Amino acid sequence: MKHIKQSKRIICALLCIVMAIFVVACQSKPADSSESSSSAMFTAGTYVSKAAGQNGDIEVEVTVDEESIKDVKILKHNESPEISDPAIERIPKAIVDQQSLAVDTISGATVTSNGIIAAVTEAIKLAGGDIAALSVKKDSVKASGETTEYTTDVVIIGGGGAGLAAAVSANENGAEVILIEKMPRLGGNTILSGGAFNAVDPGRQSKQGIEDSVDKHYTQTYEGGDKLGKPDLIRTLVENAYPAVEWLESLGMKFEDEVFTVLGGLWPRAHRPSDPLGTGFIKTYEKYINENDGIKVLLDTKATELMVDGGRVVGVKAEGLEGDVILHANNGVVIASGGFAGNVEMREKYNESWPSLTDLKTTNHPGATGDGIALVEVVDANLIGMEQLQLLPMGDPATGSLSGNIEKGVENRIFVNKSGDRFVDEGARRDVMTKALLEQEDAYMWVVLDSVDYPTGDEKNNFNESMNELIEQGRAFKGDTLQELAEAIDVPADNLIKAVEEFNKVVETGGPDAFGRTLFDQKIDQAPFYAGPRVPTVHHTMGGIEINTSAQVLNKDGNVIPGLYAAGEVTGGIHGTNRLGGNALADIAVFGRIAGESAATKK
Ligand code: ADP
Repeated sequence: MKHIKQSKRIICALLCIVMAIFVVACQSKPADSSESSSSAMFTAGTYVSKAAGQNGDIEVEVTVDEESIKDVKILKHNESPEISDPAIERIPKAIVDQQSLAVDTISGATVTSNGIIAAVTEAIKLAGGDIAALSVKKDSVKASGETTEYTTDVVIIGGGGAGLAAAVSANENGAEVILIEKMPRLGGNTILSGGAFNAVDPGRQSKQGIEDSVDKHYTQTYEGGDKLGKPDLIRTLVENAYPAVEWLESLGMKFEDEVFTVLGGLWPRAHRPSDPLGTGFIKTYEKYINENDGIKVLLDTKATELMVDGGRVVGVKAEGLEGDVILHANNGVVIASGGFAGNVEMREKYNESWPSLTDLKTTNHPGATGDGIALVEVVDANLIGMEQLQLLPMGDPATGSLSGNIEKGVENRIFVNKSGDRFVDEGARRDVMTKALLEQEDAYMWVVLDSVDYPTGDEKNNFNESMNELIEQGRAFKGDTLQELAEAIDVPADNLIKAVEEFNKVVETGGPDAFGRTLFDQKIDQAPFYAGPRVPTVHHTMGGIEINTSAQVLNKDGNVIPGLYAAGEVTGGIHGTNRLGGNALADIAVFGRIAGESAATKK
């Protein structure tokens, strides 16, 4: 009996231990458990909250039960289409999948990502969740480690304007294409640009009484780059710019009827896409890709190495989210990976034209890190003009981005410094204007204009932002008189009024004025008046891989590297010391198109 009692006691004790372990296990269950726990983590329900994104508030709806985050919905936002889409799609899902607020932000859409996370955090607070516990960073999901292999005709590195033009053109020329893009979205810097595309276009220009010629475009490009651009490449650019407009139109792209002068463009030949920023180009190429067989796009896939066989480039090694990717190219590889203005170390290494740029912000997306320059080392490709970096006087003081720029064209606005004085020909080359701005107090200026382009304030700038929105966000200022505007932006009113009066006098004569300005249209005299602040920002890298007029990459001996092509900002030799505003989008379409055709058809 005693023995049985003892056994019962032992069994009871064992049971207690097992139960104790069970309870502890339940209590320390990780947040992603869907089984019930002894204490609730949230008060079950649906909570709505908001936080600031890139363009105003992002409103979210978060549903929780007692143990987990069940659903995150974005109810309202005003983020830039295309650019913020990956964050809008992926962040809510990541929060639910990982049951965490410490999810990775999406490169290229960091502000939007953080806005969504902040809004969800507020909602979780309302639900009584433990924010600190949910904000602990978990190990990121490991890739499967498997290697995926593809064989195709043409491999394209980079899904900005040049890479997409090359993909479409290679396909039109009969090739099967794989395009890899390291970011979670297509578009690169192209999609963030103001969209201006230079081309001599007698049809449009003659209706506006504008005289122009391909030779004039050539001369302005050549001389605007201090005669350092290669004449044959410039000739190819200017002669093929309008055919590229027609090609884009044939693919469905819409441009406005009127051309304009873009900042630093020197002449009214810039075509304005009907869609905001550079989205029209990307949408046009995406539409072609969706409607035609033969182009595969791999996002989140970063080229790390060129594969070379007997001096010929035969493919690309890349890293994807799931593991390594090997791409064999029957015909060739096109490098269209963009510039390096987003890579502070690289721009410091090469910069010879400016004082240190370490502290300057950039207009570029975070993927503009010059990867293509490192990729071509293995084939001894020649680099040209690497020291030529373009700055713009047009950065948003908070972010360096082009957004928030209130000018719609060159002719109808002036720049004033903190004293309310003009200081430069506002129709000059970009380097000239930026150098002048760097000499002003705090390298800070105001773009001043009247309401001719903004009759109600609801009209949008070139970056899809209305004047009224910008004023609400404190990024632009308004005055019913110049006196009021001067007070709003804290510059001496007498100086601002005098600057505008003198400008208006020269508009009557057509100039040139004391600064040498010759581009004028209307006076600044239609109240209300507006001003927006701007600072210098790093914009474009003119140097890069040397190509010939067929977009074939040249080695250091000047010979063609078989199987290797390049187009867009990754190339050098076209723009010399200074790229004309509006020439980059022409360059990427013209040479992207040529590179695609060459890669599809050349041996
Ligand atoms: P361009 O105007 O010359 O087309 P963009 O900046 O618009 O230049 O586009 C370049 C694209 O190349 C960007 O989307 C960028 O993320 C992508 N890219 C850069 N480096 C790599 C890489 N190593 N692998 C894949 N894509 C890359």
